[in-house]
Amino acid sequence: MLITKIISWLRHSIVLALIACTLLVGWLLLKPGREDLPWTPLSLTDPIGMTTRGKIVDLTGQRDQCLALLESSGLEFTPRESFGADQCRVEDAVRTNAGQTLLPLAPASVSPSCPMAIGLLLWQAQVVQPRAQAILGSKVTNIETFGSYSCRRMYARDDGPWSEHATADALDVSGFVLADGRRISVLNDWQGDGDKARFLRAVRDGACDLFSTTLSPDYNAAHADHLHLDLADRGTMSWRACR
Ligand SMILES: [Zn+2]
Repeated sequence: MLITKIISWLRHSIVLALIACTLLVGWLLLKPGREDLPWTPLSLTDPIGMTTRGKIVDLTGQRDQCLALLESSGLEFTPRESFGADQCRVEDAVRTNAGQTLLPLAPASVSPSCPMAIGLLLWQAQVVQPRAQAILGSKVTNIETFGSYSCRRMYARDDGPWSEHATADALDVSGFVLADGRRISVLNDWQGDGDKARFLRAVRDGACDLFSTTLSPDYNAAHADHLHLDLADRGTMSWRACR
């Protein structure tokens, strides 16, 4: 009887040990970084990982936490007083200071929500600048926009869902200016396979890892002249729109 018990116990132990080894090998192979783990806080110095996009969206409504993170980036910016009403109420807009290089948005008056600014900071540091150097051999000195806040429903319709622009959780990017003076425009340079077109597609693709919605001229005629980036909250298992 005792022998049978011991054998059964050994069998269970071996199975458990095998499961533990498999999990350990899997973990070592995947080597998830903090950017891939859902329970770690968002860090602006980590690479963009599997959970980065969700963590940026989760900053919505967390004004103090978001502003503290933005502050830690070294970005020079001014938090704005709350404005708007109802669906168009904005509590967490920020205006980046003109002349700073971490997030050179134009016009200087554009003021996205704090979570958008976090996404844009990561986009510019880890996507826009590296791609500009690699493909165009220069640095981006200006990200040109059509603006962020606009109190309206999607496609300016009379009914239907409100646009993320209504809460400044969106930005329309129309082009880029390089340190060497060149200008890249979504409207004029999207088509073809030249360097400017390759750069624009690369920064569009990179935006898809950071924003809930990334729409480009590939999507429809309404986006022929800009990249629409937004932080729509689609729940925990959120899907992203990347077109
Ligand atoms: Zn838009």
